[in-house]
Amino acid sequence: MADECTHTDQIRKVTPSALGCEECLKIGSRWVHLRLCRICGHVGCCDQSPHRHARKHFHATNHPIIEGYDPPEGWAWCYVDKVGLDLGDDNVTPHNGPIPRYV
Ligand SMILES: [Zn+2]
Ligand SMILES: [Zn+2]
Ligand SMILES: [Zn+2]
Repeated sequence: MADECTHTDQIRKVTPSALGCEECLKIGSRWVHLRLCRICGHVGCCDQSPHRHARKHFHATNHPIIEGYDPPEGWAWCYVDKVGLDLGDDNVTPHNGPIPRYV
């Protein structure tokens, strides 16, 4: 396992696809935390959520980098290298809120 992420050049400024987990909103499910794909803007849910849509998105698309997104805390995670990344203040994706949680 590498201690450094080799995918940081793939990180983009993205427009989030939804205010909450896209798939959970469709099926009326709950999530624990949101994860934003920094390659395409897909919003999914974390590994503690029942459906783990962010990880499913990674498996479906090979987009490796997600950002913690509820609210944005300035960190990202690479699924491939399994390392956390510090995005820095100017690279955080603002959440347009309110987060439609548990509806
Ligand atoms: Zn990586
Ligand atoms: Zn979900
Ligand atoms: Zn993506």
